Amino acid sequence: MAQRDLLNLIGGAFQPPSSGEWVDNVEPATGRVYSRIPRSGAADVQAAVQAASAAFDEWRAWEPADRRAAMMRVADLIEANAATLAEAEARDNGKPVALASAVDIPRAEQNMRFYASACEHFSSSSHAMGDGTVHYTLRKPLGVVGCISPWNLPLYLLTWKIAPALAAGNCVVAKPSEVTPMTAYLFSKYFRQAGVPDGVFNVVHGLGPEAGEALVDHPDVKAISFTGGTATGARIAARAGATFKKTSLELGGKNATVIFGDADLDAAVSGAARAAFANQGQICLCGSRILVAEEVYDAFKERLVAKVEAMKIGDPLESGTRMGAVVSEGHRDKILAAIEMARQEGGRVLCGGQAHVPTEDRIAGGFFVQPTLIEGLGPGCRTNQEEIFGPVATLQPFRAEADAIALANDGQYGLAASVWTADLKRAHRVAAALDTGMVWLNCWLVRDLRTPFGGTRSSGVGREGGFESMRFFTEQQNICIGL
Ligand code: NDP
Repeated sequence: MAQRDLLNLIGGAFQPPSSGEWVDNVEPATGRVYSRIPRSGAADVQAAVQAASAAFDEWRAWEPADRRAAMMRVADLIEANAATLAEAEARDNGKPVALASAVDIPRAEQNMRFYASACEHFSSSSHAMGDGTVHYTLRKPLGVVGCISPWNLPLYLLTWKIAPALAAGNCVVAKPSEVTPMTAYLFSKYFRQAGVPDGVFNVVHGLGPEAGEALVDHPDVKAISFTGGTATGARIAARAGATFKKTSLELGGKNATVIFGDADLDAAVSGAARAAFANQGQICLCGSRILVAEEVYDAFKERLVAKVEAMKIGDPLESGTRMGAVVSEGHRDKILAAIEMARQEGGRVLCGGQAHVPTEDRIAGGFFVQPTLIEGLGPGCRTNQEEIFGPVATLQPFRAEADAIALANDGQYGLAASVWTADLKRAHRVAAALDTGMVWLNCWLVRDLRTPFGGTRSSGVGREGGFESMRFFTEQQNICIGL
C-alpha cells in the first residue's frame, strides 16, 4: 500500500476498505491526484457501528469532567498541529492557507473546547406540581450517531457535529466528504493520543451514495447530523425516516445582502465583497444576491466592481493568497455553466465571468474561477433562484423597503441574510421580516457558538449550536415521583 493512502478509523485501528478499492483524491489547485481514500461500503460501516456500540457503555458512564478533559486534549492536539492542518486543508480544498489558518482550524479547535465545556454545563429540567409531586427529565445520550459533513469547511464542520455528539455521551461514526478527506484523517489520529477509548470516534471514508447511505440506513444508528446540499438532505431525510432516526439537516442557501441608501457605503462594499467571495463563494452563508437601494446603486456598483477586480487569485499554499481554487474540476465546470446560463438569461457580466488560467507552473492545471458580478437579472430567473456555491453574485436594485424584503424572501431558501443600514429601527424591522434562520446587521459571518445556527424552508430542519446541538444528541426521559 502506498504511503499516500488514507485509512478508516474503526474501533481505534486504522484500516483499509474491506472492498480493497480506493478513490483518488485530487489537489484542486494543481489538478493532480495526491492521495487516495478508502472506497468504504456497508461492511466498513457495519464494523464501525459495531465498534461504536461496543464503546458506548463505557463512554456514557464517564463523568462529564472526564469527557471534558479528554475532549480538551483533542483540542490541544488541533492547536499543536494547527499549521499542518491548515496546510492540509488548503491543499485538499483549494482554499487559501491564510483562511484555513485564521478560520477553519482555530474554529475546529474552538468547537472541541466549547462542547468539552458544554458537557459540564448542560442540565435537565424538573417540574414540581402543587401537591408535591415532582417530574424530572433526564437527557440521555442516543447511542451511536452518524455525522456526515461537506467539503467546503471540512474540519470546521466535522468538529461542529462530532463535538456535541461526543460531549453528550454518544459514540460517533463520521463520514467526511470524499473530496476533502485529509484533515478528518489527520484529526482521527488524535483520539487515542488524547485518551479517548477506542470505538468512541470512528471515521469511514468513501462516497456519499455508498458509505454515506449505509450509515443513514443502519438500524443501530440513532441519529444523522448532516450538512450538505438540499437534494442530498431530502434523500437522507426520506431514508432516515424509514428507521425513525432523528435528523438535523443544514442545507443550501441563496442568501441576500441588502444595502439601504443610508448605509455606510465603504463598510457595505467590503461586507458585500467578503460575503460573496470568501472561500471562493463556497460557504452556505455567502451572500450571492446583492440587493441595493436604487439611489446608491450606481455608486455602490462602481466601488464593488473595483474591489472585486482587485482580488488576486493565486496558489492557496502561498501565504499572501486571498482567493484560491474551487474544490474540483466538476464544480468549476458547474460554476462556469451557471455563468453561461446567466448570460443566456440576459445578465450583464460586470467583472470576471470566466475560468482563471494561472501562469505559475505548480497550479497551471488547477481549477480556478474569476470572481464574478452580474447585473440585469430579475428575481425569478434561475441565476437568482438556484444555489451556485461559487464566486458568483448578482446585483439587483430595489426602490422601497417592502421591495427589498420581498426580493430577499423570494425563492426556496431561508438560511441567512445581511442588512446594511444606519437606521436602527429599520434594521430591526427588516430583520424580523426576513424569513431566514439568521440575520447579520451591518456585519457578516460573526459567529457566537452559543447561538442557534440553521435555516428555514429548503435550507434545513433544526438548529445547531449551543445547547441546541446537545438537545439534538440526547433523548429525553421524564420520571415522575409521586407523593
Ligand atoms: P453534498 O450534499 O453533495 O454532500 C455532503 C455530504 O453528504 C458529503 O459527505 C457527501 O459525500 C455526503 N453524501 C452525498 N450523497 C449522500 C447520500 N446519498 N447519502 C449520504 N450521504 C451522502 O454537499 P457538498 O459536499 O457538495 O456541500 C455543498 C453543499 O453543502 C451546498 O449546498 C451548501 O450550501 C451546503 N452547506 C450547508 C451548510 C449549512 O450549514 N446549511 C454549511 C456548508 C455547506 P461525498 O462528498 O462523498 O459525496
